[in-house]
Amino acid sequence: MVTMPIIVDEAKCTGCGKCVDMCHRMVYELRDRGGKMVAVPSRAEWCLKCFLCVDPCPVGAIQILK
Ligand code: SF4
Ligand code: SF4
Repeated sequence: MVTMPIIVDEAKCTGCGKCVDMCHRMVYELRDRGGKMVAVPSRAEWCLKCFLCVDPCPVGAIQILK
């Protein structure tokens, strides 16, 4: 089993796209979850753990596990 280092709380996520813009590794993509857009770390294996996406999230939905 592969441990996913990034957790997005989809209940909190507003789909604003800031994490998509901030991540230079293109880890995130916005996906439709029944009419609500949410950020999904679909390329989490590309993450360098720079944490640049964490603070810009206006609702604190992103957790990067160390
Ligand atoms: S920690 Fe850095 S590389 Fe990883 S998802 Fe966030 S912005 Fe992208
Ligand atoms: S920055 Fe936060 S609220 Fe905005 S899309 Fe990313 S996870 Fe969702």
